[in-house]
Amino acid sequence: MITKLCGKWVVGHQDGAHCLFEDGEVVFEDGKVIFVGYDYDGHVDKVEELGNVLIGPGFIDLDAIVDLDSTVLGFDNHPGWKKGRVPSAQWARRETYSPAQLAFNKRYAFNMLLLNGITTAMPITSILYREWAETYDEFIVAADIAEETGIRAYLGPAYMSGHAVVNPDKSISMRFDEAKGMAGLSDAIRYVERVRSDYSSRIDGFLAPDRIEGCTPELLKRTAEAQQRLACPVRLHSCQGELEVEMITKLHGGISSIEYIHRAGLISDGLILPHLQFLGGAAPTEASIKQDLSLISQGGASALICPIVAGRHGKYFDGVSTFKEWGINLSLGTDTYPVDMIQNMHIGCILSRVSKGDIAEASALDYYNMATLGGARALGRDDLGRLCAGAAADIIVFDFDSVYTGQNFDPITAMVINGNGRDIKGVIVDGVKRVWDGQLVSGVSMQELHRQAQAQFSEFKASYPERCYGSPTLEDVFPLSLNKVSKQLP
Ligand SMILES: [Zn+2]
Repeated sequence: MITKLCGKWVVGHQDGAHCLFEDGEVVFEDGKVIFVGYDYDGHVDKVEELGNVLIGPGFIDLDAIVDLDSTVLGFDNHPGWKKGRVPSAQWARRETYSPAQLAFNKRYAFNMLLLNGITTAMPITSILYREWAETYDEFIVAADIAEETGIRAYLGPAYMSGHAVVNPDKSISMRFDEAKGMAGLSDAIRYVERVRSDYSSRIDGFLAPDRIEGCTPELLKRTAEAQQRLACPVRLHSCQGELEVEMITKLHGGISSIEYIHRAGLISDGLILPHLQFLGGAAPTEASIKQDLSLISQGGASALICPIVAGRHGKYFDGVSTFKEWGINLSLGTDTYPVDMIQNMHIGCILSRVSKGDIAEASALDYYNMATLGGARALGRDDLGRLCAGAAADIIVFDFDSVYTGQNFDPITAMVINGNGRDIKGVIVDGVKRVWDGQLVSGVSMQELHRQAQAQFSEFKASYPERCYGSPTLEDVFPLSLNKVSKQLP
């Protein structure tokens, strides 16, 4: 089956960069693109005239929420140690969701990611409400759901050797269990091997040691060895916040988070580093920041920037221009709700300019590249994030006829600054239509999933007081923004 898509703008790929075709064509057969350009003269079985649209590669989200997002609860409710983001030392860890609820979260999320034009996802969930970390079994179910929804996914259960707790005297310390970390790693290795043998080529595995402060040197060292053997990506949240860099300094003799990863032998071109907001350790100097940048650059690791979640916390990474100077690959993630790569590109651009005080610091194209080519490079995939002969047929259709998208003066910039994920009306993964006319082709009702997600989230939210320092009520943890007026009975 050979399909030709025609649209006002087509993003192709030439000489290592994206390019534009006006009134262009994309032709694909099965899961592969066979032609991008003008006037394809080979046989086609089906032609789709899509009109005033941008046809481009699907987005690659390397920090894709497959949870009902809990970080949104912290937007106006902080500090985290008072609001259950760091659990109380007295909390006996337990599973807050049932296995069926965890599976529902993934079904909801994979469909939501597809609707937003995310064709490749590397999931993230919060494990603060878990008995320990993620499990092999739940990710087997996740792989089944990814197959069923049709998204391309890199999957793996997150593992850790320890986590932070708030003590009765309000201090924060780490609680470690090395055996649990090692068991988590061996499950994660077994998982990568399993998905590679038993699932379609759309499903691959990766290693997901959770936050760096919760990983012992031995766990990171073993992770590095496993990564070499499996040749799969590793993603490790690092340089994310003050608590982390101070904990690394305290536990590991004054070094920075990046130095810590380096000593474990983990820095390589297979390593993806989300956030990178606190380079240079707990007391950064120009020299210590340069040292970290140099280690990342020499090792060939990728940075993963998540602008909305970063900006919501009043933080941002050192800058597009700085990372470009060091030759560090930049990729993009959503990491919170909404799972909207376009909004993240726009906000990322704004944060970059404001944090450097320079309008030339980053362009819409810089962020578009991060969401496509940068993600592909982080995964070591030269067939993703671009449309050219031989690339995967992972394609999205952005609608410039939507009245909300303003005037099109440049298809990339106008999409990034005037558009959002809701303007994506078509999504094809591996040559198969998954979203068309803005609806899931599978017939799954997002409206029904939405209702169930609300009910499940309300139940989940009610579990916060048990994890919070000082046993507050739910209303104390999450007061409404406005005073709620009670209804007077007659
Ligand atoms: Zn993250």
